Parts: sequence; structure tokens; C-alpha cells
Amino acid sequence: MSQKKLPSVLLRAGEDRRARDGHPWAFSNEILMDAETKALPAGSLAILRAPSGEALGLATFNPHSLIAARVLSADAEATVDALFLGRRLARAMALRDRLVGVPYYRLIHAEADGLPGVIVDRFGDALVVQLNSAGMDKLTPVLLEALEAELAPTTIVLKNDSPVRELEGLKREVIVAKGELAGPIELVENGARFVADLSGGQKTGWFYDQRDNRRFMAGLAKGGDVLDVFSYSGGFGVLAAKEGAKSVLCVDRSQPALDAAQQAATLNGVDGKVTFDKSEAFEALEKLAAAGRQFDVVICDPPAFVKNRKEIKVGVQGYRKMVRLAAPLVKPSGFLFVASCSHLVDPPLFAEQVRRGLRDSSRSGRILRSSGAALDHPVHPGLPETAYLKALTLQLD
Ligand code: SAH
Repeated sequence: MSQKKLPSVLLRAGEDRRARDGHPWAFSNEILMDAETKALPAGSLAILRAPSGEALGLATFNPHSLIAARVLSADAEATVDALFLGRRLARAMALRDRLVGVPYYRLIHAEADGLPGVIVDRFGDALVVQLNSAGMDKLTPVLLEALEAELAPTTIVLKNDSPVRELEGLKREVIVAKGELAGPIELVENGARFVADLSGGQKTGWFYDQRDNRRFMAGLAKGGDVLDVFSYSGGFGVLAAKEGAKSVLCVDRSQPALDAAQQAATLNGVDGKVTFDKSEAFEALEKLAAAGRQFDVVICDPPAFVKNRKEIKVGVQGYRKMVRLAAPLVKPSGFLFVASCSHLVDPPLFAEQVRRGLRDSSRSGRILRSSGAALDHPVHPGLPETAYLKALTLQLD
């Protein structure tokens, strides 16, 4: 790709401090939006410059997005081609191979891996790619070439259906860019077998971020009765059953998700121990309480209750309610795991909701473990707020 004479994008007076500090974004209000800059096509490569004209880096630029510039390289002279992207892929892959050990992981976690707005989840020879910035979307053919060179996958799914694409002026669509998908595929996690639907499932088809939390909870669940609420395809519940839980009840409102969990139970030889309830989660919790049921371990890993700033006040109450309804179902001395993947809810705010929910249900206990996403979801040091996953494990009295 020829990169001769890239356009320049200038930061406004006094707005270059964060870029100099290593922050990978410049917001649209920090950029001098003259007519020429405003007219640059969304996703253009550009040199990000200080007000003095000094080059600060090479960025992708979208004049229509709040996150207007995303730095791709501190080297403003870098050539963004398949070799450039391939080096980042190779670095990310070496890290994952060391951390995870099996080829089932998040290969690229956006800015933290030097590819702004890009998510790649690896399922052996199949890759699911999400491009959430106009700049990287435009580089799709180059990224596909780099993925081919580094991994030679049999299948690549472009799962470009995230709502955040609309903020970048991008279409939402799912395309199989390489190979064919004949239904859900198998993956291995924590030594157990699962199935994921790479084109029709939720997000990329699997939530690798909970890998370590699933293993930890499976350890606590040995010999016990487990309730896995918002179970999706059984990542927590089926592993717990395989690792020696006595019984597991998976609750989710999605039939395809429960079908995948059922398949996983079969693949791991624990059919007899795992049951399924297709229900609204809060209704299921209320019914179980009314029936006087209790469990040794209750897991609640809901979808994001807070999706934008306006929703914070109301949305966080969902976590409080979840804990209020789940805590009564925990046997004395049993364990409660609660998670939030809302990036707008920070750990103290989440812990506050958990405390209130416990008080509402008149249960006491102690926080045993505070955790986040698995290590294949690294965080850019300039974007600590992108560490979206928070989880608390408590023992209740
Ligand atoms: N715990 C899962 C991931 C959960 S993702 C894992 O380890 O992989 C959130 C899940 O909640 C999805 O499967 C979705 O179908 C389900 N869900 C969303 N809203 C729900 C509701 N109101 N009641 C029940 N399930 C719900």
C-alpha cells in the first residue's frame, strides 16, 4: 500500500499533552477541524501532529467519530502494510501461546495489541474478526493478508455486527471471508470441550474473558450443587460439572445458547448432571427462591446492564437486584460469583451494588476474590477504563 504524502491532522493548541503521554486516542474536540481535515474520508491514514507541526505518530482518522484519531504507530514514517500488521499479530500470538497453551484464545484485544478497534478470537484454525473502527475496517484486505501469512487459517468470519460500528459510520454485517462454516465448531478451554457458533452466536461466539474465573469457580464447586445464571453455552456450568460438581442448573433466555451448553455437557460426559431452564433470569431466581431451592455455588454473569452514560444510574440497580435475588439461593457457607462487563461501571461502583444487594437480602459474607478478564485480554496503559470485566466471588454466611 503506497503511503506517500499522508495528510496531516493537527491537534489544537494545548491538546497535545495526552498524545505525548502515550494515550492512543485523540478526540474530535482536540483536533483542529478545518475544512480540509473535515473532508478527509473516514478511516484515512494520517500523521497526527502537535500544534507546532511536530509529528507525534501515525494514526487512522475519522472526522465523524468522537474518537477521531487512533494512533497505530509512534513512528510517523511507518508503512502500514501486511508486514506491519503481521508483526503485531505475531507478537500477540507468541504472548497467547505462552499464556494459554492451546490455540483457543483472544488473539487481538484492540489497542492493547497495537491494532485499534480490532478484536480477533481464535478457535484453532478458525478466526472471528471484529473491526470496530473505520480505519481498521478500511484496512480489512491488508489485515486478511497478514492473518493469512501469520496463521493460514481455514476459516475467517468477519463478525462486524457490533452497535459501536454505527458510531464510526460503518455497516453492521457478518461475512465469511475465508472458508466455510458448516454449523458451530468445537473449542477446548480449561481441558473441557465446548461448542461455539461463530457466525450466529453472541459477540464472537464465545466469551474467553471468563476462562480463569470459570476454572476458579469449578474448583469451589466440587461436590456441590451449582446454579449458573446467564449461562450462555455452559462455560461455567459445564466445566463445574466436569470438575466434580454434583449437579448444575443452567439458566439462560437463549435456546441456541442452551443447546450449545447441552452439546458441551454431552461432549464432556456430564449429561446426567446438567439441567437447563430457558427463562428470564430474574424470574427464574424468584421461582427458585419460592420453591425453597438453595445451591452451594451461584454464578451470575449477565450481559452489560449499562451500555451508555445515560443508563448508569438505572442500569447499576440491575446488579443490586441480581444480588438481592441470587443471595437467598446460596446455602450457608456457600459461594456467590457475580460479574459485570459494563465498562462504564467501575469496580467500586460495582462493589457498592453488590453490598447493597446483600443488605437487601439480609445476607452477610465476605469477598474472597476480586478478578477481571483473563490475561489474553490485556489493557493499553493509556486506556485503563477499557478493563471492562469485574467479578467478585463471595462466601455467604
Ligand atoms: N456466563 C456466560 C456468558 C454470559 S453472556 C459464559 O460464561 O460464557 C450473557 C448471557 O445472558 C447470554 O447468553 C444471554 O442470552 C443471556 N441473557 C441476557 N439477558 C437475559 C435475561 N434477561 N434472562 C436470561 N438470560 C439472559
